Amino acid sequence: EQAERYSFAAGPAQLPREVLSQIHEELPDWQGSGFSLLEQPFTSTAYKQLMSDTEQDLRALAAIPANYRVLFLQGGASAQFGLLPLNLLQPGQSADYLESGHWACKAITEARRHGPVSVVASGAADGFTALPAVETWQLDPDAGYCHLTSNETGNGLQLRDFPQLSVPLVADMTSDFLTRPVPVERFGLIYASAQKNIGVAGLCLVIVRDDLLRPPSAGLPAAFSYAVQAEQQSRFNTPPTFALYVAALMLRWIAANGGLTAMAASCRKKSQRLYACLDHSELYRCRQREEDRSTVNVCFELREPALLPLLLTEAERAGLHHLAGHAAVGSLRASLYNAMPLAGVERLVAFLQQFEREHG
Ligand code: PMP
Repeated sequence: EQAERYSFAAGPAQLPREVLSQIHEELPDWQGSGFSLLEQPFTSTAYKQLMSDTEQDLRALAAIPANYRVLFLQGGASAQFGLLPLNLLQPGQSADYLESGHWACKAITEARRHGPVSVVASGAADGFTALPAVETWQLDPDAGYCHLTSNETGNGLQLRDFPQLSVPLVADMTSDFLTRPVPVERFGLIYASAQKNIGVAGLCLVIVRDDLLRPPSAGLPAAFSYAVQAEQQSRFNTPPTFALYVAALMLRWIAANGGLTAMAASCRKKSQRLYACLDHSELYRCRQREEDRSTVNVCFELREPALLPLLLTEAERAGLHHLAGHAAVGSLRASLYNAMPLAGVERLVAFLQQFEREHG
């Protein structure tokens, strides 16, 4: 019998089996309507109910205070990179950014096209293997906002704590939102694409404090105005109906499996298991500073890089898929999002140890 396959892809990630089965079962006839979910108008009473239930579930799960709006948008986190300055900066204001790795660099490059940006600290000199300590950040007290990347998907770095700042804190949580509790009240805005921990591609969550909503300035398409979408309950235009439905199922799955505290404990346990294996190996090496290591994207390398193609081929044969590192970083990466069971990590560890015995 074929053993279970695991995808360690950084995203789109594997889904829990139960969620996949439910999609499969419900797809032909959603809620007895005679039509599939894919065929539901977003303006129908039933679909509007799905949206408001999903928002309520998310608010409960992530402890989102009442003065924050939840937006269901398209365009992914990459669109938000440009939309943040367009939506949040007042004339004359600049934005602060922490340059923590590949995705922060992308956010900075795009933001610069739309407004002045100041980098408060950078991990570039360390090759993005550690996060700059908060005491070293050169913060601008007049900045329109300060942007962080809570988890650097490609570099395997994760912020443990979030500072309390006088300017609105904005965070790209694309790769670790809903993998741990976060103090939402400390942020002006949180955004996350869904395809890692919250379902499938096409949906980007934006959680924004309501005092930051302003009428769209010239040059900002209304569909990408946080204020316009908030005003219209994310129905200014057609929302990503299928991705939103999958997110609804994922939220219920996360709640049924113990909520964010349980997700955090699971991600800690899975990643510690893998880091321990790497740290005790003669063949593998993890360069990331221990305190900054991600619990969801474990990045590592081979002391004998020539073995990489063989390792990836043998891993696939063993049912362990998509272990190649980010294209900009190379080497290896195992993504251990919410849907990855501990059994998958145990299988990976056993495989890596066996590979080391045979080729190390
Ligand atoms: N930010 C982070 C931290 C990411 O990991 C990714 C996707 N890997 C993105 C942004 C970009 O997301 P999208 O492709 O949905 O635009």
